[in-house]
Amino acid sequence: MTRVAVVCGAGGFIGGHLVKRLKQEGFWVRGVDLKYNEYAATEADDFVIGDLRDGVFCRSVFDRRVDEVYQLAADMGGAGYIFTGEHDADVMHNSATINLNVLDACYRRNAGRIFYSSSACIYPAYNQEDPSNPLCSESSAYPAAPDSEYGWEKLFSERLYFAYRRNYGMQTFVARYHNIFGPYGTWSGGREKAPAAICRKVAEARNGGEVEIWGDGEQTRSFLYIDECINGTINLLRSAFPGPVNIGSEEMVTINGLVDIVSDIAGKKVMKKHVTGPQGVRGRNSDNRLIKEKLDWAPDRSLRSGLEPTYAWVEQQVQRNYAPKKAA
Ligand code: NAD
Repeated sequence: MTRVAVVCGAGGFIGGHLVKRLKQEGFWVRGVDLKYNEYAATEADDFVIGDLRDGVFCRSVFDRRVDEVYQLAADMGGAGYIFTGEHDADVMHNSATINLNVLDACYRRNAGRIFYSSSACIYPAYNQEDPSNPLCSESSAYPAAPDSEYGWEKLFSERLYFAYRRNYGMQTFVARYHNIFGPYGTWSGGREKAPAAICRKVAEARNGGEVEIWGDGEQTRSFLYIDECINGTINLLRSAFPGPVNIGSEEMVTINGLVDIVSDIAGKKVMKKHVTGPQGVRGRNSDNRLIKEKLDWAPDRSLRSGLEPTYAWVEQQVQRNYAPKKAA
């Protein structure tokens, strides 16, 4: 019997890559999103455009037996979207409503295994003040003190997925993603994350030119290449371990260091100009002890090897954007 998967948020970055993988595995895939992906045609068998905040629409998406549900839809973006405070009400309302609706629909339709993408943003700000030694083990999530409303909503929704597991015996699985990057992700417009933003700034800069960095650039992060994220997601959903578990890289880098790697890949020398801007916590890194223990797997691809195809793709987008338009 053909296995069936529903990917909520299939028009987004991670959802688009996930649909592709599930198709390679022979699934019949339904994608759901407010929009199609901007950069690549979907490979889903069925792609439904609609708003998962609408409960009636949400239930209509689960009109058949579904083996695997991946709930990735969220109102989200990088630091420029999450940390300014201007989008807090929308972020909390929109994402919580989506999660409430999807779980209710999965419960009513007796869906199979259900994956939920939480975030490293749930970890307490007080454990991430030292850039060289952030604490992000899964058990350190409480007492809770995320540094953004985006993180608080994720924490609430994690609890919701586990409540449905406890009370209704549903097979829910929760991962905490840490900064996923790669081609076909948002690279401009304000919602892009650091790797795509830095790739764009370096691609736009002339050799010897300037690249703006928010803050002093000494804040640390780790970045996980998209293929590894998809491997971890699928491994978790098909495991006996519900999570929550980190899916991230343990290769920590400063934002200044990230600029150095990207400019080296680009073959350009750039000057770093530090400007005021939203930064989030001082340090963050994945802690992969639990995923290794429970899934006998952890990502091991180097940051640089993921940045190479990402830079090539972003550079192509930048060049297309600036290409002279043909006269009509
Ligand atoms: P994305 O923004 O590219 O994808 C999310 C998709 O959800 C978008 O296509 C959006 O249109 C869709 N969506 C939003 N509201 C919707 C609604 N009401 N109805 C239907 N669709 C709706 O983000 P992504 O990077 O692919 O992230 C996927 C998930 O992983 C999100 O839940 C995000 O919070 C989580 N996450 C991502 C990262 C990362 O680094 N990318 C890190 C931590 C957690």
